[in-house]
Amino acid sequence: MNFTKTLIVAAMLVLATAGQSLAELKVVTTISDLARIAEAVGGDDVEVSTLCPGPRDPHYLPAKPSLSRKLAKADLLCYNGLELEIGWLSLLLDKARNPRIKPGGQGDMDCSNALEHILDVPDGNVDRSMGDIHALGNPHYTLNPENAVLVARAMSRRMGELDPQNEADYTERAEVFAREVTTRLPHWHDQLAEARSKSIIIYHQHWNYFTHWQGLNVVGEIENRPGIAPSPRHVKGIIDRGNDLDGVIVIAAQWDHLEVAREVAERIGVPLTILPGYSGAQEGTDDYFAFIDRLCTRVAEAAPPAVKE
Ligand SMILES: [Zn+2]
Repeated sequence: MNFTKTLIVAAMLVLATAGQSLAELKVVTTISDLARIAEAVGGDDVEVSTLCPGPRDPHYLPAKPSLSRKLAKADLLCYNGLELEIGWLSLLLDKARNPRIKPGGQGDMDCSNALEHILDVPDGNVDRSMGDIHALGNPHYTLNPENAVLVARAMSRRMGELDPQNEADYTERAEVFAREVTTRLPHWHDQLAEARSKSIIIYHQHWNYFTHWQGLNVVGEIENRPGIAPSPRHVKGIIDRGNDLDGVIVIAAQWDHLEVAREVAERIGVPLTILPGYSGAQEGTDDYFAFIDRLCTRVAEAAPPAVKE
């Protein structure tokens, strides 16, 4: 190698190193809750984008080419797992041709691996051909903020591996997120004191981590199998059960079959409570904490003090 070539190589190395230290880690998440957690943990050291916007049902997302283009540039892909994205993520990954985030790549992160408990794991064989969409257990774990903390800490570890220079900052931000959850827990708990004595009917199993976390009493699901339109007979059974109970709250997400949910609520004689399914699903819920606040506030509002007739 002659002198000029040596200089050029040295200059390229300096530029590459400088580029690395200044570059933000490009993080793509599948759902908005994971995007909000990634932003909290990554701060200014990451650039976060999400594939499924808050108002869309992430069980069913059209695999658009623009989403593959986002994945093609990603250093880290944080996905929900438990088959929530089974209908679209692998299609997008195939088209993105990005080995960094393919299964087994350093930037491939299944956030459900951070969990300590998975709810609603089926006992026996699940026939996916019947349309059951929770075959590995309930995937909607970000609705429990304590799970969000586990995910935040796992993200901080992975971001630290990919960007060791900022490892301490990722760890610190994950702990700030954890402290914010701890600070808010007593208020969320107090808000739902009255709701704990009510009977909750849900449309889809979307709310199970939330209701389990808060000790709310779910007495029925309008969908008898997750992801499958309920039979009229099952709907009638739910309405009968609701009419036998006092203080019923009927909950659906805005992407559920609301005409069925409305019919159930009407025939029980209570309002239908439509909640945001994930951060940003309704106006004013873009922030993860605002989203959890909204869930707690709306369920609390739907649970007025019991009045004896
Ligand atoms: Zn689901």
